[in-house]
Amino acid sequence: MSPEQGWDRYKNTFTNIADPGAWTKRITELEALTADQELAESEPGQQSHYTHRLHLAGRTIEGRAVRALCGVFFVPTQDHAARQPCPDCQARFSELPA
Ligand SMILES: [Zn+2]
Repeated sequence: MSPEQGWDRYKNTFTNIADPGAWTKRITELEALTADQELAESEPGQQSHYTHRLHLAGRTIEGRAVRALCGVFFVPTQDHAARQPCPDCQARFSELPA
């Protein structure tokens, strides 16, 4: 399953492929899916990140990624209240001028 959070960005590509073992794990998953002729599903993130509210509603509807205060890219959803807040985002948000 592809994670919905914690991606790195290289130019206009979002990826988590630099994680150790990511290639081997992904290839094994894809081979199994291909053998079963199934489509891959994404894995919901476990944290609730902070981001700028500009364009947030549009990105949520379009399913496009935004950058969190902690630096990762994620696709915003409407069910963020059910997730643990990201500690890095909380720390950075508290340092912002009111
Ligand atoms: Zn965060």
